[in-house]
Amino acid sequence: MSSMQHDSIEPIIPATTPATWLGVMGGGQLGRMFTHEAQAMGYKVAVLEPEQDCPTGHVADRHFLADYSDEVALTEMASLCAAVTTEFENVAAGSLAILARSSFVAPAAASVSVAQDRMVEKRFFTECAKTSTVLPAPHHLIESAADIETIPADLLPGILKTVRLGYDGKGQARVRSLDEVRQAFAGMNGVACVLEKMLPLAYEVSVLVVRGVDGKAAVYPIAENVHRDGILFTTTVPGPNVCGETAERAQHAALAIIGQLNYVGVLCIEFFVLQDGSLVVNEMAPRPHNSGHYTMDACVTSQFAQQVRAMARMPLGDTRQHSPAVMLNILGDVWFQNDSGDSQQAREPAWDKILALPAAHLHLYGKAQARRARKMGHITFIAATMAEAQQQLAQACAILGIAP
Ligand code: ADP
Ligand code: MG
Repeated sequence: MSSMQHDSIEPIIPATTPATWLGVMGGGQLGRMFTHEAQAMGYKVAVLEPEQDCPTGHVADRHFLADYSDEVALTEMASLCAAVTTEFENVAAGSLAILARSSFVAPAAASVSVAQDRMVEKRFFTECAKTSTVLPAPHHLIESAADIETIPADLLPGILKTVRLGYDGKGQARVRSLDEVRQAFAGMNGVACVLEKMLPLAYEVSVLVVRGVDGKAAVYPIAENVHRDGILFTTTVPGPNVCGETAERAQHAALAIIGQLNYVGVLCIEFFVLQDGSLVVNEMAPRPHNSGHYTMDACVTSQFAQQVRAMARMPLGDTRQHSPAVMLNILGDVWFQNDSGDSQQAREPAWDKILALPAAHLHLYGKAQARRARKMGHITFIAATMAEAQQQLAQACAILGIAP
């Protein structure tokens, strides 16, 4: 493979002999759904993941069973694959740099690193606000106990978040006073944190955007998200609360952000809509996102198909939504809901009853063990009207023992 290949914008067209390979860092459900789409388009897929029994490993054509920073495995995957992407944001920049020596890496290490650090991300969003006009929440960096003494009074009550490695509400603490900040910061084991002002949220939204190497970008309809215990519960598109003006502002901001990052691939940006109607940018994920799963069943081109197209330098697909959609996350908890009251014994949920609902599209990730709060799958409800989709969501919640 020519070392200049990644500088060219020639598309990476699938071929059978020799096969054209795409690579993915990480073996979770996002890698699995990426693999399904890549294979559907004729590519072979290699995954690099240290865990043997993982959702992507079950479907990929090749599994490099190695640590994410294993130089030998990274080099081997890069020489096999025409392009490599990632399914999680915490891939070390060094690993992406090794891959980039002999493969096209999308998104690039520089883009991924912005999303790895909440402070870098907030500075970047603030810079983007010159064109996006959407700012992050008021915040204060806390790297040492001394920084707590300079917290502006109006940031409390707030949320203390670790700058790195937080997800699904982990690495966060709600704080009302400086004393609680001191306690919470001490509990974070000395890692850098950011204190954010607690904002009066009306609802939460996310915008999925995709951009090719040629700089062409496409944006999906805005999604309205409901979280439970810090984990995404449902995504509804079109969202019941979203007005046209908010949607347009958020989509405009998302396009400004992806352009300014010079990003290649799928990017998801989370926003808050406050009770006064104003928009605040929260965080971004440099990959397909849980709130974009509805695109698999409700849009002309799914977020995973776009990930394949962008990394393969192929033309992007149509982002148009053809049906109203509600996505319900299936957590491991539903394996432990049963009539006997025995909450220790895992039991397979009644998927036959779910599939009897005409709107339900069931996606299970093939995880061997159900654990509480673990993402096991999702169901997207697709119907002619949103009311119908919502009604079948309610029926599914009843079947699975999920509080609606
Ligand atoms: P994670 O990486 O866990 O997704 P987030 O920053 O998105 O972290 O925070 C998780 C959830 O906490 C958000 O979806 C939102 O419901 C709530 N939250 C986060 N920051 C704020 C804030 N500044 N004000 C009010 N609620 C917030
Ligand atoms: Mg979030």
